[in-house]
Amino acid sequence: MKNVAVIFGGRSGEHEVSLQSAKYIMDMIDKEIYNVIPIGITKDGQWFTGPNVREGLLQGEVFGHPLSIRLFGKDRGFMVKKDDGWQELAIDVVFPCIHGSYGEDGCLQGLLEILNIPYVGSGVLGSAVGMDKGMMKTIFTQKGLPVGPYITFNKYQWEREKDLLFEQIESFGYPLFIKPANLGSSVGITKAKNSEDLLRGVELALQYDLKIVVEKGLIARELECSVLGNNELFVSTVGEIIPGNEFYDYNAKYIDDNSQIIIPAKISSEVEKEIQRLAKAAFRALDCCGLARVDFFYDHQGNIWLNEINTLPGFTRISMYPKLIEASGIKGKELVMELIRLALERKEELD
Ligand code: ADP
Ligand code: MG
Ligand code: MG
Repeated sequence: MKNVAVIFGGRSGEHEVSLQSAKYIMDMIDKEIYNVIPIGITKDGQWFTGPNVREGLLQGEVFGHPLSIRLFGKDRGFMVKKDDGWQELAIDVVFPCIHGSYGEDGCLQGLLEILNIPYVGSGVLGSAVGMDKGMMKTIFTQKGLPVGPYITFNKYQWEREKDLLFEQIESFGYPLFIKPANLGSSVGITKAKNSEDLLRGVELALQYDLKIVVEKGLIARELECSVLGNNELFVSTVGEIIPGNEFYDYNAKYIDDNSQIIIPAKISSEVEKEIQRLAKAAFRALDCCGLARVDFFYDHQGNIWLNEINTLPGFTRISMYPKLIEASGIKGKELVMELIRLALERKEELD
């Protein structure tokens, strides 16, 4: 039987969400085909494995054996410390289940490339570009995809060229959205209605990242579409998010119970087709693999704008990614098994 390691937790702001996603993924893996190896990373970045490592992390504790990496000899790869010393931990494929920093941004993917272990989802490039909202928009724009007005700058530029940047930003008109470039789950994002909000929003975002993206606030519906595949791409039906708060902030996503998910979104079939076409184009533009959820704005003038791509989207029973795929006829178990198959297929193609 092949061993699938599911890696979760980690040093990201989305540690808790990751633990929920990991439960869903581990439940959905067919145990007659794969042996599941849970690998948990603590909030300070320590790696452990064991059957109860997820339960431990849920309580902020460590239940499991320490992990290490061996970079020499024929059994290069993960090592686990048992009572009688370090042993090889055979892993055939990894399902990275960490959202945000170090898991979704290419870091974990780079480590797995070095260890020559196949993994689910996008490679280093797609993951890194997909994580950086500035780079992502630059590539989308270059590929002729519809992106709303935005500007990106770093802390150094903000400190030295504040007046010039301020003028450029205000030319978009309010409201504005201010975002740390490399985060998810709406962490550090604020909506600015005037110049004081803008100054405060940039200062807040700079606490999370040295790079900032400021966008013109669009008055629009939020639509999402799931993509599955490596070469031939399957695109799901389109779903709509109706945020319970002023925008889809962290509380609206995970805390308050006032946001709604509507599947399928009530849109015309032309709009649905256009969104599916753009979702595929966005996936290709970033050289993505396996899976991604692509998010859009649909404004009252009928324009469709690409907001962002998420290369390791939330993966719980109530998450949009698996729900959209399921609404399109592929159940959770089938989806997770297909993602693992795609990971192995990609590796075979590369070798
Ligand atoms: P994250 O990666 O953290 O989800 P997003 O860029 O998707 O970041 O922004 C989070 C939410 O903020 C969106 O779902 C939407 O509700 C709101 N938002 C972001 N950018 C804009 C924009 N330009 N216009 C209107 N709403 C926006
Ligand atoms: Mg995101
Ligand atoms: Mg988003």
